Amino acid sequence: MIQLYIPLNFLGVIYREIKQSLTDLDKMFGLLEREREVADAPDAKVLQVQGAAVRFEHVSFAYDKARPILHDVSFEIPAGKKVAVVGPSGSGKSTLARLLFRFYDIDSGRISIDGQELRSLTQSSLRRAIGIVPQDTVLFNDTVAYNIAYGQPGATQAQVEAAARAAHIHGFIAATPKGYETMVGERGLKLSGGEKQRVAIARTLLKNPPLMIFDEATSALDSSNERAIQAELDAAGQNKTVLVIAHRLSTVVDAHEILVLEAGRIVERGDHEALLARQGVYARMWRLQQSGAAG
Ligand code: ADP
Ligand code: MG
Repeated sequence: MIQLYIPLNFLGVIYREIKQSLTDLDKMFGLLEREREVADAPDAKVLQVQGAAVRFEHVSFAYDKARPILHDVSFEIPAGKKVAVVGPSGSGKSTLARLLFRFYDIDSGRISIDGQELRSLTQSSLRRAIGIVPQDTVLFNDTVAYNIAYGQPGATQAQVEAAARAAHIHGFIAATPKGYETMVGERGLKLSGGEKQRVAIARTLLKNPPLMIFDEATSALDSSNERAIQAELDAAGQNKTVLVIAHRLSTVVDAHEILVLEAGRIVERGDHEALLARQGVYARMWRLQQSGAAG
């Protein structure tokens, strides 16, 4: 059961694209059968994390062979550093996140963590090392406490609450009659996109993994919450390896490297200063956001 839950959690990421309402677990299992292509190799090994350095080497990928999505993508996230991905909608940013989580196997190239190729690893050990805040979060039809502690089964109530406070969702939870024992999901309390996103953030803060993926992690939040929660994510990501897919460029300024993705190709790369000096796509995006016309 547990092993199935982990990839299910990740379905949240592709929720939008597949436009399928995962209203209950039966449906989720049905979908999993079709979507899931990844299996542990017979001799799969447990990931040994040192610093969680990530490396993509000439990665190409298509969901459907007739329509390639990523083309020859190479980059590295050194241990403890943050790499950001920016680019227009549909350029393949979330796909990169899904591949790092090994929701799909790649068609060519190599993805590794601390030198260990993803395909050679057990999925459970890989996913233990990674925390992800997806673009769209699907919660389990279970209690709020379960949803936050998910991935960290031994967590105490105090730890769950501390994570919820950091994600600015504690007040909301505490105001419900059953508090952390409130059932959420289709058969319980319906949460807004922003509330679900904050539950996913709390979950990741609690899990505190060595490798974190934030896929537009604060996109559903209002601006008053966003700034404070972004600060929590920044703090949590200190000295962790972080892949951040950003909708606001203010969150990428301090990245070790920024990748600009367009139609599945890296078209520009460098740190913030270098990309501004280049006067290209990134510099244009930056000017637009600075003038308040976007994001
Ligand atoms: P971004 O996150 O940059 O908006 P995505 O990585 O989500 O982009 O999507 C890249 C492309 O892959 C899009 O054209 C999208 O329609 C397509 N795509 C995403 N998920 C799937 C899927 N499960 N099956 C087929 N195509 C998909
Ligand atoms: Mg996306």
